[in-house]
Amino acid sequence: MKPYLIRPPIGPSESLYGHLLRSAEANLVSPLRVSHRLQLMHPHQLKPANHATFVTGNFVENYHRRFKIEQKTIRSKLATKACSDKISWHGLLFDSSLIRSTPRICPICQQATPNLIKDQWYLEPYIFCHEHIYELAIHDHPQMPLALHSRDMISEVIIALDEIFSSPNFLNKRVNETQNLIDSLPLHRQKLDSSVATELSSLWPMKQFTLFSNMNLRNFSS
Ligand SMILES: [Zn+2]
Repeated sequence: MKPYLIRPPIGPSESLYGHLLRSAEANLVSPLRVSHRLQLMHPHQLKPANHATFVTGNFVENYHRRFKIEQKTIRSKLATKACSDKISWHGLLFDSSLIRSTPRICPICQQATPNLIKDQWYLEPYIFCHEHIYELAIHDHPQMPLALHSRDMISEVIIALDEIFSSPNFLNKRVNETQNLIDSLPLHRQKLDSSVATELSSLWPMKQFTLFSNMNLRNFSS
């Protein structure tokens, strides 16, 4: 199995799905083709909510060989099915309803590092970017900076998640206290609208999509 010629390094908090899209673009091949080479049916499987749908052992080996990324780094980014409805991810247990199928994005992060999709953005409780104190985008309306309240629980969760998710291979002492915060989040809170698709035109220029006429933009949006 040959590695790809161009192998973008994966960012500390970058999602595997985002890295696959970036790598496909860098190598001028379609994301679908890259996922087939990893013996996945579809790039969608690399969204965290779907990680449990493939055989992770083979996948880690294939991803490692194609992109020369350390296996432990790949494993640290994989969400696995734990007991019943829980998903284990970065050492934390999440109710599966807390994982978004489509990430929200921080517009300022996207300006600084275009095409980089962070793992954190897939989490329902993660509603603003800790780095920029900016509400993550789901709609086209202008985003307003949010005031940070130091003792606000959701702020604590977000700051802790950012630290943990940005330290692959390393489960720091915050994991336990963060787990307690997650467990005390109101579970039956109405799920925020995450049905809006990731803006893919910024990830993959339209002209490149047309090279693969069997592909449909919508395939990447849910
Ligand atoms: Zn940001």
